[in-house]
Amino acid sequence: MRCPRIDVDLDKIRHNTQTLVKRLDMRGIRVTAVTKAACGHPSIARAMLDGGATGLAEPRVSNVIRLRQAGMTCPVTLIRTPMLSQVDDIVQFCEASYNTELVVIRALAAAALRQDTVHGIILMVEMGDLREGIMPQFLADIARQVVDMPGVALQGIGANFGCLNGIAPTAEQMRALTALANDVERQCGPFLRTVSGGNSANLPWALEERATGRINDLRIGEAILLGVDPLTGDQIGGMFRDAFTLVAEVIETTTKSARPTVSSADHTLTEGRLTPNNSATTRIILAIGHQDTDAAGLSMPPGNDFIGATSDHLIIGTKDATLCVGSEMRFQMNYSALMRAMSAPDTQTNLCSDTPEPNTRDVHGSRDYLTLV
Ligand SMILES: *Cc1c(COP(=O)(O)O)cnc(C)c1O
Repeated sequence: MRCPRIDVDLDKIRHNTQTLVKRLDMRGIRVTAVTKAACGHPSIARAMLDGGATGLAEPRVSNVIRLRQAGMTCPVTLIRTPMLSQVDDIVQFCEASYNTELVVIRALAAAALRQDTVHGIILMVEMGDLREGIMPQFLADIARQVVDMPGVALQGIGANFGCLNGIAPTAEQMRALTALANDVERQCGPFLRTVSGGNSANLPWALEERATGRINDLRIGEAILLGVDPLTGDQIGGMFRDAFTLVAEVIETTTKSARPTVSSADHTLTEGRLTPNNSATTRIILAIGHQDTDAAGLSMPPGNDFIGATSDHLIIGTKDATLCVGSEMRFQMNYSALMRAMSAPDTQTNLCSDTPEPNTRDVHGSRDYLTLV
């Protein structure tokens, strides 16, 4: 099979979605699945919907168009503040968008009137991450203007946490978001259908045994795709971490010095920074590099150490004597490695299905009664 490629297990993605949907449903929260790290791949989006996600969310219109061209008709929300230059496409391909700028909302409204439709608006509020968002003191005023504007409908409010500053939201911040939702309704009238509490970084809050207030939606990407809490990197119980595997091919195996050769005249290199080390190690080179993924975000299989990467090469020190030129090596990826790999033009996506449930302890589980015919 071609390399580099990403083996994608759609059953694991469906299972991960289902697991979160079930747990969050008990807390009155629905899951909007974020497809950006999968680059809007339609089959991956389909697996998320099959797992119970109520809709899809994407920051990029190009990915939304990819979903639509594959025949996906589910609601898709644009979660990045729209570019003024893209409002026509956004109204055409997305049911709703997250917004922070009145000038953009006016342009969306005009585009919606031209297309004889109504575009949904969710106002993003700044709650501490200091990326996008309307300052809370201006929210009600902007909401009122949206309510009065033909061509758009105010659908809700949302906040984002843990992105720019990597800090999980506190229960107090989530209570403040609930209070803002109540406030906007009191001042502007319409019921807010969506109060979106954030992304995967909010799961620890959402899954705790405490009141969730008005929050009824989370936008989840990383936790579904990689089965981890993005802030701690810890696996979420009952979820698969290996739905995606990057596969690369060995193009050189050789024994080289563990240290680069430096001229003894080069004092800047020999003094302090480099210690003499003559131990040799087997190094292998794989045909994959920075242009294909975030090399530092790959987890090395046991017995292998990451040495370095350049634009097209990945260099690994290995104890595995079976590796030879032409061998394939498999890597798990973190979110940034996944996102880059999924959008790299030379990397093929290979979809597979049909995996057993993880940690199936119940021997009387339904699978035992399945008969293959
Ligand atoms: C990427 C993104 C998400 C999803 O984040 P994950 O950490 O992948 O769950 C949610 N909301 C916004 C605005 C985003 O940009």
